[in-house]
Amino acid sequence: MRKPVIAGNWKLYKTSSEALELITSLKPMVENNKSVEIVVAPVFTVIGSVKHAVTGSPINLAAQDCFWEEEGAFTGEVSPKMLIDAGCSHVIIGHSERRQYFGETDTTVNRKIKAALGAGLTVLFCIGETLAERDGDQTLDVLKTQLCGGLSGLSADHLASIVIAYEPVWAIGTGKTATDEQAQDAHSFIRGVVGGLYGPTTADAMRILYGGSVKPDNIKGLMAQPDIDGALVGGASLKADSFAAIANYGG
Ligand code: PEP
Repeated sequence: MRKPVIAGNWKLYKTSSEALELITSLKPMVENNKSVEIVVAPVFTVIGSVKHAVTGSPINLAAQDCFWEEEGAFTGEVSPKMLIDAGCSHVIIGHSERRQYFGETDTTVNRKIKAALGAGLTVLFCIGETLAERDGDQTLDVLKTQLCGGLSGLSADHLASIVIAYEPVWAIGTGKTATDEQAQDAHSFIRGVVGGLYGPTTADAMRILYGGSVKPDNIKGLMAQPDIDGALVGGASLKADSFAAIANYGG
């Protein structure tokens, strides 16, 4: 039985007072939700204060990225060990905005995943095709390449601490959601690739999230699909009521 994950990516939003206001409103709205793994990913600077605010609640903390070295002369970077120290249990790696704007490649994603797992973090590993790739019928090739690149050198044991997030780039922040069927098709393909690499038991246990304009009014249809195990939510995670409605989709 795969426990669903609903994760909120706050991106480059929320000062410390705004982050505290959001988390303080969200906390009572989800405190009785035991059926879903709830995660929020604030900017690095507010992780400590948000951690303090969520103590005693079911909300887990993620960072939006990390570096692969533990420490050293790497100005501007934050290591997995430092994220654990700040109170994170999860980290997002390979988000399309990092691939698009910050030169993230399958190789750097792979190094980051290995380092994050080594430190004991659960990784939310993002993959997804652009609109041009979908229109050019390359979706499945792109997903397979990103999956094989990101997971290169990892064992089946490692995969227990990885959650894959399928995020079609054309659906992120655009208001365009993949249809339930398009998302299910991609998820089923991803599970098949994981099965080919690691066998059916690992593939069956792998949680695969959908991301791309998830809202309270489309979460139920997505979650009704057999291979969709949760959502990575951007815009709708910035308001407590909409994120809570998504996390509490089961009623
Ligand atoms: C995201 O940031 O990962 C995302 C899916 O954003 P949005 O929900 O706004 O499309």
